[in-house]
Amino acid sequence: MIVIDNKLCDRCGCCVAVCEADCITVYEALIEIDADKCTGCKKCVWICPKDALVYKDKDVLD
Ligand code: SF4
Ligand code: SF4
Repeated sequence: MIVIDNKLCDRCGCCVAVCEADCITVYEALIEIDADKCTGCKKCVWICPKDALVYKDKDVLD
């Protein structure tokens, strides 16, 4: 799953543009990722200019 640091994110929208699963929503003050739709492709992590997105294995979180 993708973990978002909304303090780093400036809502540029780059991650939304590359997400083929269409699961990222940008709001005025934060972004949200629908974990159920996310395929874990990590394209959003690679494209983010602010390093605001981090991929975490579910096992690590459990
Ligand atoms: S690419 Fe990064 S900085 Fe831009 S909206 Fe997405 S998470 Fe935020
Ligand atoms: S990992 Fe892929 S599917 Fe998941 S939010 Fe990022 S770009 Fe979208």
